[in-house]
Amino acid sequence: MQYKKFSTLLLQWHLNENKRQMPWKGERDPYKVWLSEIILQQTRVEQGWSYYERFIQKYPTITSLAKAADEKVFKLWEGLGYYTRCKNLLYTARWIEKNCRGRFPENYEEIIALKGVGSYTAAAIASFCFDLPHAVVDGNVFRVLSRVFGIDVAVDSTKGKKFFTEIAQKVLDKKTPGLFNQAIMDFGATVCKPAIPACAHCPLRSVCIAFKTGQANELPVKEKTLQKKTRWFNYLVMMANGKTFVRKRISKDIWQNLYEFYLVETDTNPHWTKESVSDFMKEQINYHQFEIINIITAIPQQLTHRYVKGYFIFLCLKNIPATLRTENLWINAERMSDLPFPAFINQNLEKKKIKPVLF
Ligand code: SF4
Repeated sequence: MQYKKFSTLLLQWHLNENKRQMPWKGERDPYKVWLSEIILQQTRVEQGWSYYERFIQKYPTITSLAKAADEKVFKLWEGLGYYTRCKNLLYTARWIEKNCRGRFPENYEEIIALKGVGSYTAAAIASFCFDLPHAVVDGNVFRVLSRVFGIDVAVDSTKGKKFFTEIAQKVLDKKTPGLFNQAIMDFGATVCKPAIPACAHCPLRSVCIAFKTGQANELPVKEKTLQKKTRWFNYLVMMANGKTFVRKRISKDIWQNLYEFYLVETDTNPHWTKESVSDFMKEQINYHQFEIINIITAIPQQLTHRYVKGYFIFLCLKNIPATLRTENLWINAERMSDLPFPAFINQNLEKKKIKPVLF
C-alpha cells in the first residue's frame, strides 16, 4: 500500500492548497484546542465558531473558566445543546485547576483520562499542542482512508473501527502529527466529502483506489447501509462517440461482478434536476460539454431484504472526459449486449423502452 505517497501528497495539499479557515487552527494552547474540540463534538463548525470566540473572550484561560459561576458558563453555552459537554467542561477545568495548578496535562494517557475527553479529542490535543504521534480518527478520516485504499470493511463495525484506526496510525506522519491530523480532517471536510467528493480536482487521484475503480460513491461501507431497507441507485448513463460508459461492480455488495452505468448512491431521494446533474458533472467529473437528454425515475425493484429505487439520467457528451478515460469501459451496443447487467437496469431500460447507445 502506498502509505508514504499518500501522506506526502496529503501534506503537500495542506501546505499549498488548503484554504479552510477556523479560529482554532494552528493553535498550540491545549486549553483552546480542548475547548474547541468539546464545542465541536456534536456541533457543526459554522455553529461552533462564534461560541468558541465568545468563550475565549470571556474565559481566556483554564483558571478563568474554573473560577466562573456555573450559571454564567451555562448561559454562554445556551443554544449549543448536549449540556453534558458543558458540565464536563466545567468539571475538567476545575479538576485541572485544583490538581495541576491550572496546567493542562501534556501526555496522551493523562489527557484521555480527563472527563469528557475521548480518543479523538485526546489525539487532537496531543498532536496539535505537544507533537505527539497520535492519529485522529472520525468519520472524515474513515471515509478518506476507505476510499484511498479501497477498503470495504464497514466503518461502523467493531472490526472496521479497529482496522481503520490501525491504518490511520500507520499513515500518520510521525514527524509532523499535528499538521498531518489537520490535513486529513480538512481534506475529508472539503475535498473527499461524503456526498459528492471532488475527485475531478483531487490531488490524491493518482493513489486513490476508489477513484481508479469507480467506487468513490460506494465507499465507505456502513453496516447500517447494508441493512437499510431502501437504497437509492442513481445512474448517469453517459454516451459519447457512439459508446456508453459502464463499469464492473467489484465490491462485496449486491450485484458483484455485474456491470452498471456510472453510479451515484444516495441515502435518500436526491430529486435530481438539470441543475443538480450539471453541478455533479462539473464537481465530480470536471466536465462541461454535455446535454441532459432525460431524467427518468426508475421503476423500483424489491430484493429479498430491501428495495432498490433510483434514477436513470441520460447524458450526451461531446467526447470522453479525461477523468473517465482510464480503468473504465466505453462500449458500443454490440458489446453491451454481451455484458451481464443487474435486473434493475435491464428491466428499467426494457420497460421504459430505452436503448442508451442509440443517442
Ligand atoms: Fe476522495 Fe475522490 Fe480524492 Fe479519491 S479521488 S481521495 S475518492 S476525492
